[in-house]
Formats: sequence, C-alpha cells, structure tokens
Amino acid sequence: MHEQWIADKMKDIEVSGIRKVFDLAAHLKDPVNLSIGQPHFPVPAPIKEAAKRAIDEDRNGYTVTQGIPELRAKILADVRKEHPGQPDRELLLTSGTSGGLVLALCCVLNPGDEVIIFDPYFVMYPHFITMAGGRSVIVDTYPDFRIDVAKVAAAITPRTKAIIVNSPANPTGVVYSRETLRDLALLARERKVLLMSDEVYRAFCYDGKFESPIEFNEDTLVFDGFSKAYGMTGLRLGFAHGPRRLIEEMIKLQQFSYVCAPSIVQHAGIAAWDYDTTEIVADYKRKRDRLVSSLSDCYELNSPSGAFYMFPKTPWGTGSDFVAEAIRNNLLIIPGKTFSRHDTHFRISYAVSDAMLDRGIEILRKLAKR
Ligand code: PLP
Repeated sequence: MHEQWIADKMKDIEVSGIRKVFDLAAHLKDPVNLSIGQPHFPVPAPIKEAAKRAIDEDRNGYTVTQGIPELRAKILADVRKEHPGQPDRELLLTSGTSGGLVLALCCVLNPGDEVIIFDPYFVMYPHFITMAGGRSVIVDTYPDFRIDVAKVAAAITPRTKAIIVNSPANPTGVVYSRETLRDLALLARERKVLLMSDEVYRAFCYDGKFESPIEFNEDTLVFDGFSKAYGMTGLRLGFAHGPRRLIEEMIKLQQFSYVCAPSIVQHAGIAAWDYDTTEIVADYKRKRDRLVSSLSDCYELNSPSGAFYMFPKTPWGTGSDFVAEAIRNNLLIIPGKTFSRHDTHFRISYAVSDAMLDRGIEILRKLAKR
C-alpha cells in the first residue's frame, strides 16, 4: 500500500465526530445515548409490509434511474398542490437525502466554486462540497442561530454558486422564520445563486407550519427523504425536486453512479407517503417540551422548534471538555465543534425513549452543577 494512492482531498475529510462517539458507545455498559440523529421508533408496520411484499413480488431489480413512476407522481402531485404555478418542477428519487445532495453538488460545482453554508451546519455539507470540487464559505449564526441575510449578501462573490439552507436545522433544531426564508430566496434569485433547501426534517415542526423557500423562488432545489419521518434511516430513500434542467443532469449522473434508489424501498415508499405521522410528531414535540422544561433553568438554550435536536451552550469548559465529562458519566452527546468552527456547545438528540430521555436529563442536570 502506498500513501500516495490516497487522494489529497481525503486529508480534508476527518472521521465524523458522531462516528467517534458512536464507536465509544460500543465500549460503555448501557450508556445513555443522546448522540444519534435517528428516530427511536421502528419502521411502521404498513411500510415494512410493503417492503416485504416488494421482495416477494420480485421487485428486486434495477428501476428506471429517476425512480418508479407511481412514487414520483405521488410526491410530485403533493409538491405541486402545495406550490402551484411551478410546472417546470421535476423530481427524482435518490439514495437517501444525502444521495441527492451529492448528485446536485457534483452537477453544479466547477473546481473552486463556492457554496455558502451556515455555522453550525449539518456535518456532511462541507465534505460533500469538497468532494464535488467546491469550497465552503461559512456564515456564522451564533449566538441565536438565526440567519442574518445581510451577512449572506456580503459573503456572495463572483464564485458563489449555491447556498444550502436547512430548516428545521440539524444540529440546532431551529426553524427559520418565513421572512428569513423569503429574504434568502429573493437574495439568491437576485444574485443568480442556486438555493438548495434541505427539508429532511420537514415533518418535525412543533410551533407552526413548515415553510419552504420554494414559495418565493421557483428555482430552489429541494432535498427531502424518508429517513427521519418514518424511521427508515438504513433503507436509503430520498428525493430531490427542482428546475427540470437541473434534475435532468442529476438523473444523468445517478445513472452512472448510484444507478437508482433501492428498488424495494421505492415500493415501500408508496406506503410511507400515505402513512400518517401525526402521532410520531406529537410524541417528539412532547419530548422536546420535556427537555426544554427540565434543562432551561441550568442551560442556555435556544428553544428548538423543529427536528429532534437541541444545541445548548456548555455551562463550563469547551464543548469537547464538557462532552468528555459527560461520557465519563455514561452519557453520549456530540461536541458542537463536530458541526461548527466553535467549540462552545453540544448537541442532544431526543429521538429516544422517555426512559432514556429521563436518564439523560438527570445526568445533564448533575453535570451543569459541577
Ligand atoms: N440532511 C440533514 C440535515 C440531516 O440531518 C441528514 C441526516 O442526519 C441528512 C440530510 C441525510 O439524510 P438521509 O438519511 O436521508 O441521507
């Protein structure tokens, strides 16, 4: 093995801080694990049944690259109903939301092109951008994690190709206001920058209805998926919709990379799309409320309105110091620097059972008083 076989760009890609905590969990006895961004409930029965049926009916071969027409039509009809007057919007099914993001960035970026992302950001964004040959330009959103659109305008250069916005957001749980999304969408349109909207947590909005920037900018490219709302993280199904011309390029690239989204899961996706998630979301809202009311007297937190994360400031030490101490106390959480240039916060995922959440709250309250 020769070290020069490894591409230079891999040096910029570190093993995810989440993976590290994940690996640590394997060595702890019965840890309180609030580190994983994955729903705690099993895939609902009708979706499992549909997947099993698809296997038994021998739907195990390649599908058309863009995805099976039944599911594409179903999703696209709902998108068109929600956002009428966008006849040019097309959709493809992808291998997870991540698969869609990779395809899009590869189709859009020339070497050295810039993509604006917001700090704290979803861990994968900078790496997807590097992989696609681009450069991340980071706009800071501390301390309240709101987007200052004037800062975004100032960060745009002649090399700016895209902006990635994620609402509800991982890791903060923040849901951006309709006004912010409107101003961002209009700025992108005015400056001829592609707005990419990662809406994978769309179902998890607790304090108001979900808003998408596509209402204000019909060229917005949307990424979404089945992982979070239906607990289907390992099944790898997502979709992207946007301007037809761009989607056609993504389909072309998918043909020569992922080929298609997993076939049986596309069939299960039809059952998932019809599945009512009201109870799931109500349960997570209750967990959010429980966490906020149990921690807000001892932690500085921006009450999260969506997703299933909270991003409190550490009451003492850096994010890394605090997380190391939490792990010594059998609690797994993620240091903020995994998602950020700052090492001042930590991420809690409350996508866990109530019993696990209560154990976590007890340890967190004890740690705050240290
Ligand atoms: N986007 C965000 C903001 C996420 O948090 C995640 C998963 O954690 C993804 C995309 C990837 O989702 P998928 O499992 O559909 O690839």
